[in-house]
Amino acid sequence: MTRPSRVVIDRQALKHNLKRVRHYAPNSKIMAIIKADAYGHGLVRVAQTLDDADAFGVAFMEEAIQLREAGITSAIVLLEGPHKAVDLNTISELQLDIVVHNQHQLDILDKADLVEPLQVWLKLDTGMHRLGFPPALFNDVYQRLNAMKNVKQPMRLMTHLATANEAQHPLTAQQLDCFESLCSEFDLEKTISNSAAVIGHPDTRVDWVRPGLMLYGVSPMAEGTAADHDLKPAMTLESELISIQYLNKDEPVGYGATWRCPEDMPVGIVATGYGDGFPRHAESGTPILVNGVRCALVGRASMDMLTVDLRNQPDARIGDRVVLWGDSLPIEEIAKHANTIPYELLCGVHKRLEFIERG
Ligand SMILES: *Cc1c(COP(=O)(O)O)cnc(C)c1O
Repeated sequence: MTRPSRVVIDRQALKHNLKRVRHYAPNSKIMAIIKADAYGHGLVRVAQTLDDADAFGVAFMEEAIQLREAGITSAIVLLEGPHKAVDLNTISELQLDIVVHNQHQLDILDKADLVEPLQVWLKLDTGMHRLGFPPALFNDVYQRLNAMKNVKQPMRLMTHLATANEAQHPLTAQQLDCFESLCSEFDLEKTISNSAAVIGHPDTRVDWVRPGLMLYGVSPMAEGTAADHDLKPAMTLESELISIQYLNKDEPVGYGATWRCPEDMPVGIVATGYGDGFPRHAESGTPILVNGVRCALVGRASMDMLTVDLRNQPDARIGDRVVLWGDSLPIEEIAKHANTIPYELLCGVHKRLEFIERG
């Protein structure tokens, strides 16, 4: 590639972050969540790097098929379960685990003609109101699954938290109480926690934990950054200066002329834009590293380029290194400046970029 923009994936950082999960939850098995192309880091690459995980979690079948085709033999959990009856044969062939969260899935599972029973994770809706059976149906659903020839015994129990990333949100305690009161008498393996719960709610570190974001070295908490939890960013989005403008006071920069130079100053042009997944809504002032020094985005990011205030790097030259997020520049900060969350930025990194692995 001649284009000087790339994504660097640090495999050592991924491994380090998995160890951090083990540190937080030493008695839990780890279902590493690698949906959405492993949060933009590369599905197969991350699965191969994190081969120490006890299982992988993906959103849907195509992701699981890709993993099996790449030779990944670990347990793989379909977090949305089967969508259609025809999915079940492939699921059985590929030996995938399924989350069962609604009546439709009970029906198709009951009717399917499978060679082997499937590992089922029965999902309860304890208050997030996205996927899962309501508490009142738990006993019936459990009995029904228990009697099905297509369900491998013992099944496992699962719920998902809506507010684990906010330290004191009352809904978390309500959800935990609900799950506990429904499940405590069942001697089955259970799972509750996403990354935020792994870090912030020790009582959710039960038989299995389900970290996603923290594996990629990003803080799942509403405030702070990865370094607060000794996590290392696995993705660095980097580029280069491809031009420098020496502008006069009051001259505008970029589309819409939304930003004007407060004084005579150099402005750098960087070869990355919203076509790569850099957020167009990032405001002027969003930090950008030029030669490792903090500078600031000025004006609107365009499709293939963005513009940076070089007053902190007046001697910068064409070809100098620019970091948009990652190593030494927390993506949490960029997300705040763009009024979004790190998850969205990671998933939005465009595959037209060159991906390089390190470590
Ligand atoms: C995505 C997801 C996770 C991981 O969440 P993070 O916040 O990235 O740790 C865990 N469980 C389920 C059901 C998910 O969909």
